[in-house]
Amino acid sequence: MRRLALDKLEPTPENYARAYAREAGEPAANDGAAIAALIERIVRGLERSSKGWTSARKKESLQRVLDGSRSDARRLQQRLTQLVGSWDSDPAAVAVNEAADEPAVDVGAGEAADESARTEQPIMPFLADDPAASLTALTPEAAPAWRGVVTTLGATVGQALPVQGDSPHEIAQALAALTASITTEGPTAPLIEALELLCQRAAVVLQHRHHLLEQLGALCSELTASLTDLAENDSWAQGQVALMRETIDEGLSARGVRAVSELLRGTRERQGQVRAEREQARDSLKGMIHLMLSELDELGSQTGNFHASVGRYAEVIANADSLESLAGVVREMVVESRSVQALVRQTQARLHDENDKARGLAARVDELEGEMRRLSEEATTDPLTRIANRRGLMQAFETLSAGQQRSGTALSVGLLDIDNFKRLNDELGHSVGDEALKALAAVVGKTLRPTDVVARYGGEEFVVLLPDTPVEEGQQILTRLQRSLTGGLFLHEQRNVLVTFSAGVTACREGERIEAALERADQGLYEAKRTGKNRTCLA
Ligand code: GH3
Ligand code: MG
Ligand code: MG
Repeated sequence: MRRLALDKLEPTPENYARAYAREAGEPAANDGAAIAALIERIVRGLERSSKGWTSARKKESLQRVLDGSRSDARRLQQRLTQLVGSWDSDPAAVAVNEAADEPAVDVGAGEAADESARTEQPIMPFLADDPAASLTALTPEAAPAWRGVVTTLGATVGQALPVQGDSPHEIAQALAALTASITTEGPTAPLIEALELLCQRAAVVLQHRHHLLEQLGALCSELTASLTDLAENDSWAQGQVALMRETIDEGLSARGVRAVSELLRGTRERQGQVRAEREQARDSLKGMIHLMLSELDELGSQTGNFHASVGRYAEVIANADSLESLAGVVREMVVESRSVQALVRQTQARLHDENDKARGLAARVDELEGEMRRLSEEATTDPLTRIANRRGLMQAFETLSAGQQRSGTALSVGLLDIDNFKRLNDELGHSVGDEALKALAAVVGKTLRPTDVVARYGGEEFVVLLPDTPVEEGQQILTRLQRSLTGGLFLHEQRNVLVTFSAGVTACREGERIEAALERADQGLYEAKRTGKNRTCLA
């Protein structure tokens, strides 16, 4: 206060601080030269980056000091001086240790320890401006590890990108080249920058793909809705449309989409056959109606002729002058009327026959149309294997899942896929493939308990539901089934064909949707395929 009075200064906080400093014998904060020198040091320091003090980190520390000491010019100057001092004293470890040991530095309360941790163990060494520094900061055993990570991450992003024709996406190719350079040359600043740019481009492509997928889902949904509007109520396409809608509503999963595509294809093929037969029956019916019309026409003209003859005979009779001539006319009349009678009888009989046939054909057309509707509705049984189809499976699952929730018992869900089935089809023919499917379905059905459910999920994939069965037991059951099949499945041209399958089995959780359980079982199945096939893995 005395100093302020002597200097005739206003009692502002800044003036108090300056007066205090002078009284305490410290250099005055308003010493222009000192401030100018400090600013110059700060600017120089910011322009230079060093091992531990990257320019980003310098700016961050500077900001913290500014934020923490704004209200105290003296303290601000003191802390800025200390901060620049620690920047200048390279290597970083020294600066940081000084900072850590010397609480007076106080680069933001409690942050000295953070800074030290950051420097000793860089979290993202690639972000350092000086690659040599970040590489030396890594322990020798860590170096190969990050190389592996960079390569794997690069390959993963590359795989996620869509292919262009037969070759990988250009970004994937560039990414592969860049990660290779980074692992050999180290994460230099230009490489890191190029990597960031590529990743941004990849993100855009991937986001676009996700968007496209959503749009496709929406398109399918719209198409299905349009089909519903177009298809009349009793149309034989109704079942297919309903199935499409159910699948879309379930949410798009690769397995679901594939299963419904296969089902639709199968139905379409069989409907195609039925349709051809119906067209034939219709054509025959049309031909028959034509024939009947021409018969009637013919009959009309014959009876018309007879009518004219009758008129002529009446005239002859009226003018007849002898018994002989009358008898002659009557004979002619009898002959002619007999022939007309015979013609009428024949035509009647033919029309009767044809009418029966036409009725038969019309009934057949109706029947075939019913068959198409039935195919579309796809009941609940797979026509080839005579076991439950996907719809049948869903119904059975609802029942078993409700039972599980009531009794709290275990429910195992298994997913089976025939091994190398494509090869069997290629080598022995599709119909032998069909026989194998039938035989496998029959064997599985016979081997399981009556309370178990087996269904054809699509193609060469089957699902088994094992109520009251812990998952380990489920695995044993399926493994036993696999062993019992190794004796060969069915006879083809006097020789046994070996059909094996791989399976994944999982414990269905209470109240869980079958799709979720099947996703898990699919992981087990994938594991079984990957580790040599003809086995059952838990998931
Ligand atoms: P993996 O061991 O990995 O399962 O090989 P895979 O050959 O069994 O598997 P992939 O999925 O490549 O081939 C399945 C084949 O099953 C392709 C398809 O032609 C055939 N397939 C699907 N449904 C039927 C069907 O109803 N009858 C016949 N005969 N073959 C079918
Ligand atoms: Mg398959
Ligand atoms: Mg298969």
